[in-house]
Amino acid sequence: MGKVLVFTEHTNGNLKRSSMELLQAAAKSGNTVVAVAFGSHAGDVTAAAGHNGANEIYVVKDASLDSYNPEAFTANIASVVEKVQPTILLASASATGRDLFPRVAARLNTGVASDCTELNISGDTVTATKPMYSGKCFAKVNFENSPVKIVLMRANQLPVAAADTSKSATVVEHAAAKPDLKTLIKEIVKGASEKLDLTEANVIVSGGRGLKEAANFKMLSDLADVLGATVGASRAVVDAGWVGHGMQVGQTGKTVAPTLYIAVGISGAIQHLAGMSGSKVIVAINNDPNAPIFQKATYGIVGDAFEIVPKLTEEFKKALH
Ligand code: FAD
Repeated sequence: MGKVLVFTEHTNGNLKRSSMELLQAAAKSGNTVVAVAFGSHAGDVTAAAGHNGANEIYVVKDASLDSYNPEAFTANIASVVEKVQPTILLASASATGRDLFPRVAARLNTGVASDCTELNISGDTVTATKPMYSGKCFAKVNFENSPVKIVLMRANQLPVAAADTSKSATVVEHAAAKPDLKTLIKEIVKGASEKLDLTEANVIVSGGRGLKEAANFKMLSDLADVLGATVGASRAVVDAGWVGHGMQVGQTGKTVAPTLYIAVGISGAIQHLAGMSGSKVIVAINNDPNAPIFQKATYGIVGDAFEIVPKLTEEFKKALH
């Protein structure tokens, strides 16, 4: 059996759910699972990594890795790969993962399967499935001549069982590589409206042009607050300047796969569906019974969003609080 290296992502030491998915999938494969964590808080991830199936964790505890820097991260992943010699490398198809791992693949002269929705590992063999042409078809990806098979998985695609607190990972402190950086991240400015990033969210309430104007997104925030959800949007309202691009779901926005996606006043254009059709349960609220979103929806509510959404908010408030 070989080694599967899992690049973990965390927020100030709290392991992200997407990384738990990858660790648990790697553990099920029977390979040795080696996690890697970057940044000042990397040491805080070790327990959770062990509980989710890591046998070993490489901790690269260095403040230069607190924020994503493509050059620094590429050099440090390459350095850990050289030490660990994995046959498979798993990471999340997050904004960081999508930017970082094509660079890593080029550095290691190996192959990368990006934005995958299914993963099968049998020994050293990996087969991944990825949607193509905005989800109109699916490609099965195998690797040839790839010393390290790199797979980037969309979040929320793999199951997460309860963490096993009796398990732990051996911690290896790994010295940070310090390449000459051509770029320096000075500050990360978070979008004010975003709570949990859309790609990580378990429940999303998304709004489209049917909301008529920017101020009406307040109605969605109220529903989202009750559900503990993150608010998303269609491109039409992003282009109109009602909300920031960080909230856009779709082909040219974020790809999401929550347990529950509530689409309010969104027609269901193919480019929007491309970003959210992996959601487990889709609820569509639209006053046009022929809106294409209803073909994808698990539950459809035909009616005026301005009547339905406040009622839903009230009912959920009673039921959940
Ligand atoms: P509309 O299509 O105008 O739909 C509004 C809906 O609201 C209608 O179905 C209407 O019946 C309903 N409605 C109106 N009033 C009410 C009411 N009172 N109550 C309930 N429902 C109501 N789009 C994306 O979303 N994400 C992308 O990433 C994206 N990428 C694109 C990339 C390319 C290259 C191109 C060409 C397009 C892309 N688009 C994307 C745009 C996409 O084609 C659609 O134009 C867009 O998704 C439409 O947004 P919408 O559903 O909010 O608006």
